[in-house]
Amino acid sequence: MITRKKTRQIMVGDVAVGGDAPIAVQSMTNTDTRDVAATVSQVERLEAAGCEIVRVAVLDLAAAAAIRAIRDQIRIPLIADIHFDHRLAVAAMENGAQGIRINPGNLGGPEKLARVVAAAKAHHVPIRVGVNSGSVEKDILKKHGHPTPAALVESALRNVALLEELDFREIKISLKSSDALATIDAYRLLSERCDYPLHLGVTEAGGLIAGTVKSSVALGMLLYEGIGDTFRISLTRDPVEEIRVCYELLRSLHIRQRGPELISCPTCGRCQVNLFGLAEEVERHIQNMTVPLKIAVMGCVVNGPGEAREADLGVAGGHGVGILFKKGELYKKVPEAELLAVFLAELDKMAAQHEKGGQ
Ligand code: SF4
Repeated sequence: MITRKKTRQIMVGDVAVGGDAPIAVQSMTNTDTRDVAATVSQVERLEAAGCEIVRVAVLDLAAAAAIRAIRDQIRIPLIADIHFDHRLAVAAMENGAQGIRINPGNLGGPEKLARVVAAAKAHHVPIRVGVNSGSVEKDILKKHGHPTPAALVESALRNVALLEELDFREIKISLKSSDALATIDAYRLLSERCDYPLHLGVTEAGGLIAGTVKSSVALGMLLYEGIGDTFRISLTRDPVEEIRVCYELLRSLHIRQRGPELISCPTCGRCQVNLFGLAEEVERHIQNMTVPLKIAVMGCVVNGPGEAREADLGVAGGHGVGILFKKGELYKKVPEAELLAVFLAELDKMAAQHEKGGQ
């Protein structure tokens, strides 16, 4: 059982973050935000995959203005990611951004920050204080020697204090390092020092395999310890892949489940069907399904039937055939040539029944 650290709850649009709210899954678009059609299209794909909050980069006033048209066409809350220019933060909020991610210390001084905070209060927009290894202030760096976890935390709390001095508390915090162990230490430390909701992430984590492993190690440990209220898995990939990894991570920790769980064996010398092809096609088919079914795709009749029986729908490969199991019972034998089509048809039938509540 994971005991979640109790944090203050904030609202990002209509999504609650922190407190007893479910851990929210985020991603960030990699389109030019000024290109409204491309950005909306990517957000729609993210929404279909289960993304709950999306962040867009705001590099200039045209991008801030584009937020209005983007917001009109998407359903999930939008956060504007801003560096250095307080005018972009204000413009993003005026155009409907439901959250902003800034580093309060690098907006150009107290007056400019006060303008941002005034706009955030007027528009009921929370602020994510985003600190990373590159943003740690010089004096803190000098004190710690490097952007150590303690330095990241000190920098974050200093930036948070700037907002608190303006009587602003609708805050969440992120502390990003590209090192998994430093990320764990930093968030642990921060979690002891404040009760603001935390956005977890490993920055510049890498491509699909390296990024997934690094992020899963760091975020998995933190989430297991009850730390973290929202998170993003950063990958050098199509951001839709980030969402899939997010849900697999939450599923592995038994925190949240979305869509079917696919269990498939790695195959070995006993396998007598084209299991890789079958598993890949099944995986593609279930990508945007939301029903929580357990599916098993196994290569042989030695170990396959055990897993297949435990699943809602399972198949164990035989010599040129697949043996289908439904809800733990042997259902039928299907020639390999028809296996994929029959399996997917059964899966769709089961999903439809599940959606109707008639499982
Ligand atoms: S289920 Fe069968 S084919 Fe797959 S890894 Fe296990 S023994 Fe090998």
